[in-house]
Amino acid sequence: MTRYVYAFAEGGRDMADVLGGKGANLAEMTRLGLPVPPGFTVTTRACREYLATGAEPEELGAQVAQALAELEHRIGRELGGRDNPLLLSVRSGSKFSMPGMMETILDVGLGDESVPGLAKATGDEHFAWDSYRRLLQMYGRTVLGIAPELFDRPGPTDDPAELVEDFKTVIRDATGEEFPQDPAEQLHRAIRAVFRSWNGERARLYRRRENIPDDLGTAVNIQVMVFGNLGPTATSRGSGTGVAFTRDPATGARGVYGDYLPDAQGEDVVAGIRNAVPLAELDRLDPTSYRQLVAHMGTLEHQYRDLCDIEFTVERGTLWMLQTRVGKRTAEAAFRIAEALVDEKVIDEDEALTRVGGAQLARLMFPRFEAHADTKPLAHGVPASPGAAVGALVFDSAEAVRRAAKGDKVILVRRETTPDDLPGMVAAEAVLTSRGGKTSHAAVVARGMGKVCVCGAEELTVDVRARTLTTPAQAVLAEGTVISVDGTAGTVHLGALPLADSPVGRFLDTGKRDGVLTDAVSRTLQHADSVRRLGVHANADTPKDAARARRYGAEGIGLCRTEHMFLGERRGLVEAMILAEDETGRRAALDALLPLQRDDFTGILAAMDGLPVTIRLIDPPLNEFLPDRTELAVRVATHPTTRDRRLLTAVERMHESNPMLGLRGVRLGLVVPGLVEMQVRAIAEAVVERLRAGGDPQAEIMVPLVGTVEELRIVRETAERVLAEVSDAAGLTVHCPIGTMIELPRAALTAGRIAEAADFFSFGTNDLTQTAWGLSRDDAEASFFPAYLAQGVFATSPFETLDRDGVGRLVRIAVEEGRATKPGLKIGVCGEHGGDPDSIHFFHDTGLDYVSCSPFRVPAARLEAGRAALANRGEGTSAAAWTP
Ligand code: ADP
Ligand code: MG
Ligand code: MG
Repeated sequence: MTRYVYAFAEGGRDMADVLGGKGANLAEMTRLGLPVPPGFTVTTRACREYLATGAEPEELGAQVAQALAELEHRIGRELGGRDNPLLLSVRSGSKFSMPGMMETILDVGLGDESVPGLAKATGDEHFAWDSYRRLLQMYGRTVLGIAPELFDRPGPTDDPAELVEDFKTVIRDATGEEFPQDPAEQLHRAIRAVFRSWNGERARLYRRRENIPDDLGTAVNIQVMVFGNLGPTATSRGSGTGVAFTRDPATGARGVYGDYLPDAQGEDVVAGIRNAVPLAELDRLDPTSYRQLVAHMGTLEHQYRDLCDIEFTVERGTLWMLQTRVGKRTAEAAFRIAEALVDEKVIDEDEALTRVGGAQLARLMFPRFEAHADTKPLAHGVPASPGAAVGALVFDSAEAVRRAAKGDKVILVRRETTPDDLPGMVAAEAVLTSRGGKTSHAAVVARGMGKVCVCGAEELTVDVRARTLTTPAQAVLAEGTVISVDGTAGTVHLGALPLADSPVGRFLDTGKRDGVLTDAVSRTLQHADSVRRLGVHANADTPKDAARARRYGAEGIGLCRTEHMFLGERRGLVEAMILAEDETGRRAALDALLPLQRDDFTGILAAMDGLPVTIRLIDPPLNEFLPDRTELAVRVATHPTTRDRRLLTAVERMHESNPMLGLRGVRLGLVVPGLVEMQVRAIAEAVVERLRAGGDPQAEIMVPLVGTVEELRIVRETAERVLAEVSDAAGLTVHCPIGTMIELPRAALTAGRIAEAADFFSFGTNDLTQTAWGLSRDDAEASFFPAYLAQGVFATSPFETLDRDGVGRLVRIAVEEGRATKPGLKIGVCGEHGGDPDSIHFFHDTGLDYVSCSPFRVPAARLEAGRAALANRGEGTSAAAWTP
């Protein structure tokens, strides 16, 4: 026989799988001897079977009847009986807390025959009829599916008995049936309604957002009703209901926090129908209940070793505990509570680390708006890069640069951004786009720079030509209008909202601690560093970013892109190189680029002295460095010059229909003579310069987009020759390991061969994801991703969180076969995933040596790498459980 029903006294807090969180915790409180109204729990399994088959499991009815009979016997009252009737609450509660997302029905069992009995037993006629009225309303809405507004009665009557008649009519009219008077029928149908609420729209949406699996189902808790609405707490015999927290869930401070609502039933507090008073008031109103509550709070904190939140009700001076759970909290409170519990010797540093997450740390690093409760956003978009910024609207990069140079704060607004917008993005406080998702160009680049970004704000119409932004309310904002952008919430506001500085950001930047929060963050990070196995490197292309990464704790640069070094004024030289008609012309262009690149590398190697700097040879297609084809064609048509004509020919010759899969990466090195030589020489000469200056340069050369070992061999030969030449000329040994990115499925699948020619591997998980899925990120995000997310094909974008099953499998194969060829082969990852909490756990498990991410994600990556190490010891929580 399958067991579908457990009395509260039979369960415990480790049974959340079976009893749901609420049921498990009710059982735990019962076992601890706290005053819990008695009851029993129907298991999540019963719900799963009901949802799968459309019918309850066969034994369920009998088991519920039996549990009910025992309950009635124990308390000596009968469900819906004529005198002193027993009433029940029928409460949802799944394994993971989904507050308010499913249904709960109160006062079940009441009917025409039992109302007088309830009135008599309580001595309160009004209360009895009001309870019946509440039941009709809740039951009508949740069990019978009647639209809630049909129960809105703005009318003149306050008389609950009249309302009862009214609501019975509403039910009859809406469903063609009478409200069921049989208490057992009420109960069974209420249980079914709770089962069904697992698949309600609210619940499904919440699960998707919180990454809660869809197939868990909810338990149903059936519990004796107690009444907080039996008169106000005027005397010690008063009633009321409230919520309490054992610590402040906003700041983490110790103390008793909560709200109390005299003369009310539980859901009145949650619904915020009436004004509650601070919990401390209860001490004055009913000191006995207050003291008991505080004592129970202590018991619960001791038992759960964490912040608990609590629902309670006082019925005529008797305190009842209705719910508890480990409470949700802000990021700040999470760090403060975890470290406070260490100080109180309740948990150790390992456990403290499992209780916070990288996403929470990231949220604390950036300035925030003080409060914008009172300003309605102009529009919503994707919260792509956290923080808060205020500035004047500008519509192109040049204007952003111009105004910023004058000292103005600006917000760069574009439909979407391209590499050409980079100077404007650097100059702006924030970037706002109307298209694209979390991994669009704007989002990735902004996150890399630690710049606030909201993207994909589709409600906004951006007209770059007219230089206006039109809001959904049809307000037209001109260039220069001041707006506020909240990259944490993904909202855009008119005017300048007040900014609050981030102490954690300041601490990470300067090492200066200035209070309990920064102390807590600092201790947690130190502990993470002491337990993690994974190294944490940064993706950085400039000395400034490199220095910042180092301050944030990066132990090297895992990806130094060289393409930015071909932009700006250097474009002319790149054009000259591409247009060169003979070897002499090309050489001249390359020779002119060489010292510029060398100086870039020298600066970065200086900033990262003593730490590895992995420099990637040029990766994007060269035509990205040429002018736009259409613009050029217009220019040639209107004011033809020889140079433009030649450029246009080159652009047309180099035009590709799939540039992502075209002439880029290592392929460039194989077909553009002199390119690899120039880059390797610049690196080698920078190393020499640093050595001569007494530094400790650790440059590594990384070849992108390799698909076969032959490509790597050819580049390697050239690189080794140049390294030897520079060494000879300088009279020094320049040693640079030469490795490859693994970012094509073929590279992963032939990693054993590729390792023969590679000193290290670094996974480029962005391209690996694109090529494994056969899709282009920019195109997919703008077109079908939203539909895929909505239909649940992805829970999250595979560009944000590594797809373990597919792309992850390629990673595992490459690690295994690479190390089979070369034991101890150094392997890292430098795609965006290197900074994603869940993906970091995967990289740890897969045996990578390090992750590399943008400097601003380094602190969170250190934290997650520490947590991953603990999770492996079987002590930690999975990343998902703490990823808010
Ligand atoms: P949720 O999960 O949305 O919080 P609950 O099952 O906790 O839903 O119930 C909603 C409200 O009803 C809560 O305020 C709770 O305290 C109250 N409630 C639930 N069961 C009882 C009961 N047996 N007696 C009195 N109030 C109850
Ligand atoms: Mg509740
Ligand atoms: Mg790549």
